[in-house]
Amino acid sequence: MTSTETVWRDRVLGYLDEHHSEIVADLVDLVRIPSISGTDEENEIQHQLAGRLSELGLEVDSWEIPLAETLAAEDFPGVEVERTEGWGTVGRLPGDGDGRGRSLMLNAHVDVVPPGDLGTWGEAGPFGAAIRGGDVHGRGTCDMKAGLVASLWVVKACADLGVPLAGDLLLGTVIGEEDGGLGTYALLQRGWRADACVIPEPTSLDLAPGTSGALTFRLTVTGLAAHASRRLSGVSAIEKFVPVFAALRRLEATRNEVKHPLLRGWELPLPIELGIIRAGEWASSVPDVLTADGRLGVAIGEDPADARRALTAAVAEACEDDPWLSSHPVTVEWWGGQFAPGLTDPDADILDVVRRAQGAVSDRPQATWGTPYGSDLRLMTNLGGIPTVHYGPGDASLAHGPYESVPVDELLTATRALALVAVEHCGLRG
Ligand SMILES: [Zn+2]
Repeated sequence: MTSTETVWRDRVLGYLDEHHSEIVADLVDLVRIPSISGTDEENEIQHQLAGRLSELGLEVDSWEIPLAETLAAEDFPGVEVERTEGWGTVGRLPGDGDGRGRSLMLNAHVDVVPPGDLGTWGEAGPFGAAIRGGDVHGRGTCDMKAGLVASLWVVKACADLGVPLAGDLLLGTVIGEEDGGLGTYALLQRGWRADACVIPEPTSLDLAPGTSGALTFRLTVTGLAAHASRRLSGVSAIEKFVPVFAALRRLEATRNEVKHPLLRGWELPLPIELGIIRAGEWASSVPDVLTADGRLGVAIGEDPADARRALTAAVAEACEDDPWLSSHPVTVEWWGGQFAPGLTDPDADILDVVRRAQGAVSDRPQATWGTPYGSDLRLMTNLGGIPTVHYGPGDASLAHGPYESVPVDELLTATRALALVAVEHCGLRG
């Protein structure tokens, strides 16, 4: 490390230490914007962030995503909520432009999933951002407004201090990650690229260079309606669903027998789960239709088409064994988010840069693994060809649940580490 680099690293870390309380306050403010996927607030937060990045003196690309043509593209990864409007935001802190430095993109999604049962959130509510026991609580805290705030402050530190980065430092904030990846897809379609990318999804400060895939599907089971008092003359779609559900559980067990090395730490890295089941419309009628919406986990390195075939075959097989279902087979549709798996070469330099940065600001041992969930990483690696890793504050097991929170100390550690990643990866002029 050159002495110039040491000086700038110390300055950046000093700056972040001085602004601890503002960093936490920023997280509280952003959590209070209920930017649930598909709501107006999802765009509102994008406009606010574009404004913040402009104020910092960054070059800001804030654009309305052409939804109709984007959604119609052949490789579009899918959506699960309706949008009439969607915005992309990229802030660029330019390097020296002579091509010597490497560009880095920090990519963070602004959308959050709905809060679920409001009763579980306590008095502050899901978007109250209450601070208790060193944690900020609320929907979107770890997934992933803490990572967003960390990224924002890395850019702010570099801009405010005038760090002479040789390569461009980019912050891309995106909508629609939770329902398929609209925002990152649109950002790549817009032409934004970088030499490496960090997505500060919650990894508890571990390093995750790979992501499993997740494919959303719908099963439709057909029965025969009848008055419940004469149920034997009808066919219950719920009853016919039971063997199909059992077949999915067996398929899940088979698919998890052999685990990718990055996914060995997970008891069940490739879950098949049904999140929504709907059947019937009247208490004393035999239900004649059942729909079940679920997600199929895809292994790192697996072709999503093969995963789809495996599920379709398991459902078809279950139908063949049942006299009613063999003549009224369950249909399988693939809709909504279609997350392919993604993987960054374990030898890619960005992995070592993040490891060194984390090691410089924390004694905590850092593990390397792949995520069991799908994320925008695969769009960056597969479509963008950009070596990308997840590294960020918070425990992903709390994401989407009723007690989502993020430790303040992890937020601050991640912010410090990501600042060092920017300085080392982008390099310094002169
Ligand atoms: Zn996330």
